[in-house]
Amino acid sequence: EPHIGVFALQGDVREHVRAISACGADASPVRRPEELEAVDALVIPGGESTTMSKLSIEFGLLEPIRKRIAGGMPAYGTCAGMIMLADRVLDGRPDQRSFGGIDMTVRRNAFGRQVDSFEGAVTLTPFAEPFHAVFIRAPWVESAGGEVQVLGRAAGRIVAVRQGSLLATAFHPELTGDLRVHRYFVEMVRAGA
Ligand code: GLN
Repeated sequence: EPHIGVFALQGDVREHVRAISACGADASPVRRPEELEAVDALVIPGGESTTMSKLSIEFGLLEPIRKRIAGGMPAYGTCAGMIMLADRVLDGRPDQRSFGGIDMTVRRNAFGRQVDSFEGAVTLTPFAEPFHAVFIRAPWVESAGGEVQVLGRAAGRIVAVRQGSLLATAFHPELTGDLRVHRYFVEMVRAGA
């Protein structure tokens, strides 16, 4: 079984641990560099990317996670986690850092200018049936490089992407009990994506 870590300095960690376990993989929280070394892949939860940035620097995880991702470790980020996987962040704090890895520019709180949170059916290319997606102060992908596969859009905006072994959604599959995105990620990890 793959051992999948969940970045656990901030965010909805428990929900992801539960979803990954329900998919049949081992899941455990990652707070320290030693815990990062023990995992095959990493999920970065929803939460607050500015806090994740600050705490990952404080806890000595920023560079180790950057390096693992650059070295090919599979990772999946939801919402704030999507922001952390972006190479470029708009409307972030000036000192905000990301782990990077996906050649995309995300805009923080992008939908929030019109409405804070919303949900709706999103068509995701890997799945036959639409996905009920929950957006909470969500980012969108403003632009993406040629290596980035667009997996879904909402309101005309890119909200789900994959680049090689990296996956990101602007919404929160961990909150709704639909395991398809987590299963898709666990399959990526199993396949050695
Ligand atoms: N707005 C948050 C951020 O910028 C993300 C919100 C979320 O993860 N639900 O990090």
